[in-house]
Amino acid sequence: MSWITVIWSMAAGVSLTLAAVNLLVWLRDRDAVANALFSVSAVAAAVLAMQELAVMRAQTPAEFGAILRWMHVSAAMIVIAVVWFTHLYLGAGRRWLAWLITGLRLLVLIPNFVLYPNATFAEIHALNRVSFLGETLSVPMGEMNPWRSLIHLSMVLLCIFVVDAALAARKLGRGRQALVLGASIPIAIVLSATLSGLMAHGILPGPFVTFVFLVLVLAMAFELSVDLLRARQVTGELRDSRERMRLAAQAADLGLWEWDVVRDEIWSNDVDHTIAGVFGGKRIGLADYLELVHPDDRDRLETTIRRTMAQARELLQVEYRMIGADSTERWIVAWGKVEYGERRQPLRIRGVSVDITARKQLETEAQQHRNQLTRVQRGFVLGQLSSAVAHELNQPLGAILRNAEAGEAFLRQDPPDLGEVREILADIQKDDQRAAAVIQRMRSLLQQGELRFEAIAPLELIQQAAALLAAEMRTQHVTLGIAVPADLPKIRGDRIHLQQVLVNLLLNSLDAVKTGNSGQRQIDLHAARAGEAMLSLVVEDSGPGFDPARLVDLFEPFYTTKPDGIGLGLSLCRTIVDAHGGRISAANRPREGARVEVLLPVAAGG
Ligand code: ADP
Repeated sequence: MSWITVIWSMAAGVSLTLAAVNLLVWLRDRDAVANALFSVSAVAAAVLAMQELAVMRAQTPAEFGAILRWMHVSAAMIVIAVVWFTHLYLGAGRRWLAWLITGLRLLVLIPNFVLYPNATFAEIHALNRVSFLGETLSVPMGEMNPWRSLIHLSMVLLCIFVVDAALAARKLGRGRQALVLGASIPIAIVLSATLSGLMAHGILPGPFVTFVFLVLVLAMAFELSVDLLRARQVTGELRDSRERMRLAAQAADLGLWEWDVVRDEIWSNDVDHTIAGVFGGKRIGLADYLELVHPDDRDRLETTIRRTMAQARELLQVEYRMIGADSTERWIVAWGKVEYGERRQPLRIRGVSVDITARKQLETEAQQHRNQLTRVQRGFVLGQLSSAVAHELNQPLGAILRNAEAGEAFLRQDPPDLGEVREILADIQKDDQRAAAVIQRMRSLLQQGELRFEAIAPLELIQQAAALLAAEMRTQHVTLGIAVPADLPKIRGDRIHLQQVLVNLLLNSLDAVKTGNSGQRQIDLHAARAGEAMLSLVVEDSGPGFDPARLVDLFEPFYTTKPDGIGLGLSLCRTIVDAHGGRISAANRPREGARVEVLLPVAAGG
């Protein structure tokens, strides 16, 4: 076998192998149009190599002309495929220029087939026999075809098109691809000129176009191979990152899911399978998923999803219950991100979900505890206040009784002293109103309900609280000193709850002064401004003060040092003060006794 046969067959073999590989790629992924275009050009390059081998061995001018004619078809196919490959692969290049080159190459085929013998020669007179690489080759002698200039033009345009596309692609950040493809065309043209020059000097018997087109095919093949290599790397990285994500999701008990809105298909990871309980790896739609949701939450979940999509919102967050395979109820919180298409139509929602059953249980338990605490506290306050209220009521009721007896006596006189009786009746009325006010205050204190904010004058608040315990103070021989400057602003607060705070603090002070060793039983309640926005109410007493080591525990529920105490008073005070946006603190006075300060916000315009 001669060198000519070996070299040309190898060129064809390389082209065919590359074509087959890329054809396979395209068959597996129909979106890989660049690979399909490459296959076309590589097959054409292989055919061209074989045609060139045949033309060099042609025996007659007619045979030479006929083979050359078909070589133009192969060359046109390669050029057209290269143009569209470049356009597609670089994502750049002028389309009109691509169409112009395509049109020109197809146009050349008309005179190629209509005129004799082909687009290169107008006439082939004879074939010269030249010896080359151990073989005798045919070299045509004849007149050139003027249509040939169209082929040259198309090659120049191809050169311009590729360089222009490469420059544009560089700006888009595809520098390497631009360089390889942008350089291969000029190289092919330089190669073509060199081979023609060598032929003109009688060194080569022909232009050997196979190698010119082979350069183009190899440039494209190089690019596609680099792509394949990158795809492999990306696949590896993707596998790693998926594994990392799976581990992280599993560790955090995080469900990952995706709902393909268009196909109505839900995918979710293993963690989510556990949550849903019955997915078992099979693909399901939204309706199937909703079947697993608690009937009470089903409509709400579906409405939330549909509304989010209808309003074209991006983020979705929803809490709902699911019924697991074992019929257990589980609370789920799901966050999702909705992706929309060009016409703002929802395409898919991707998201994560977390099982929050434990948290929900804790919340319910905490709420139950709070309710219990409030009930206990209310009962406790009731117990403490009932004796104070009994004292309070004793006084007006006694006065009413005494007045009624006196009135009776005046009526028995002859004539009855009606003026006295009238005065007595007015007194009875006043006492009755006082008794009613005591009962009303007690009821208010025990009533439940939300905070009802109003602007309250500090003096009024303090006096009302003090009035509730006035009888108790008298009985225990305790002096209550109240000091409230006249120009203080009003407080923003709930009257009943703040009264409860002051009553609790006063009751604690009462207990304290009773146990104190000093003979003096003094409680002071004073108010003052604390900056622009706050007002301070301070309750001080002459009792033994707090245990310095336990100051931090004072406001904790159930901290008590009293044999019959339950340790909820200060804790409740703090809850109420916090709800007002205020602060409560306790300290010992420098010499003796306790000091509790409550800071409360000033009412707007107060
Ligand atoms: P209780 O009065 O049921 O013990 P509190 O929460 O009202 O519950 O008070 C907790 C503890 O704080 C009391 O047991 C007491 O030791 C201490 N304490 C509260 N007020 C004073 C005070 N004015 N003087 C001294 N100790 C006090």
